[in-house]
Amino acid sequence: MQQLKSLSETPNAPYPYPDARGRYGQFGGRYVPETLMHPLQELEEAYASAKADPEFQATLAAFQANYVGRPTPLYFAQRLTEHWGGAKVYLKREDLAHTGAHKINNALGQVLLAKRMGKKRIIAETGAGQHGVATATACALLGLDCEVYMGTEDMERQKLNVFRMRLLGSKVTGVHSGTKTLKDAINEAMRDWVTNVGDTHYVLGTVEGPHPYPLICRDFQSIIGREARAQLFEQEGCLPDLLIACVGGGSNAIGLFFDFILEEKVKMIGVEAGGFGPETGQHAARFAGGVIGMLHGAMSYVLQDANGQIKGTHSVSAGLDYASVGPEHAYWRTTGRVEYAYANDNEALDAFQLISRLEGIIPALESAHAIAHACKVVPTLPKDDIVIINLSGRGDKDVSQAARFILGEEANL
Ligand SMILES: *Cc1c(COP(=O)(O)O)cnc(C)c1O
Repeated sequence: MQQLKSLSETPNAPYPYPDARGRYGQFGGRYVPETLMHPLQELEEAYASAKADPEFQATLAAFQANYVGRPTPLYFAQRLTEHWGGAKVYLKREDLAHTGAHKINNALGQVLLAKRMGKKRIIAETGAGQHGVATATACALLGLDCEVYMGTEDMERQKLNVFRMRLLGSKVTGVHSGTKTLKDAINEAMRDWVTNVGDTHYVLGTVEGPHPYPLICRDFQSIIGREARAQLFEQEGCLPDLLIACVGGGSNAIGLFFDFILEEKVKMIGVEAGGFGPETGQHAARFAGGVIGMLHGAMSYVLQDANGQIKGTHSVSAGLDYASVGPEHAYWRTTGRVEYAYANDNEALDAFQLISRLEGIIPALESAHAIAHACKVVPTLPKDDIVIINLSGRGDKDVSQAARFILGEEANL
């Protein structure tokens, strides 16, 4: 445990990524059709100007406090700590943010940016519907038109979120191409953006896609780690020893990790979805089973076959079920700064029940992957070590699916 005299004792030195070409080492970049180059440059400039504008930052901070409910608590999980018998465990409670997950941090920031750019219309892609709901919420709040692209397969599986988005005043457009899931919805959103870029901003939901999206999303999510750092200093007077977060595209993990990335003593583990196990081919563990490749405008680790065709993925948690991972994670994996592990479906479902019973918190199935890995690691750590686990979202959305796994297929909640 590293004791500190003040919060700013070890301030972050300048961090050089992304570089001027939008790269994180060999990863990231801007691999897009010519027609998207100009909109992305315009977005990069508009974002840099907003970032430096105290009025924009003050407006965002006021919404974060009064609308989203930030800061979210950093909660000492006493019973979980006693159960594991190792390090002290804190949970960063993003499940308590408005709409029930961290995604609102990025959606709100980007919709506010779009408004500052004079855009009248927002488009977004969504897989399970969580990013779509967060974007629809921010558009209702700020009075912008919103259209969300969603694969028809996903619309069928996530009817409740489709209805939520429509309640919030958004148009939900089904995508019938390809596997009718998230990657097809992203393709369609990009096509729309090229055509309507004059009045439209595309809100991308995680630290993925062409530069500057991974940077913008990282900035809006890094409030998670900034708060956690101040809150832990207040409660324990030190830095954490270990951070654990689940990794879909990687935005909640980057959100927690980023403020600590130059603190060499703070270890970090990102947890991917192991599905039925990487050896079965039915998983979304890009670092365990992927190769370096390109998807949706960025170089990163990708699950693809020998011909470069994107492979199908599987996870019990829809939010982790994607064939690529944010380029900055690929960079951290390569340098060894962050360790990446995976948890399988059944391990996540066990962790889902464990924390419900021990702490009275029903977590999102995504977050349960982080808890599942903590089950393996925390018991081996000294008692005076401190671990922060990012509880990226709440589990209300997952209860009926969990019931089918726990009670059997006939459970119909
Ligand atoms: C979408 C989602 C994730 C995965 O996305 P990241 O960009 O990796 O954070 C994780 N947890 C919850 C609750 C989500 O809704």
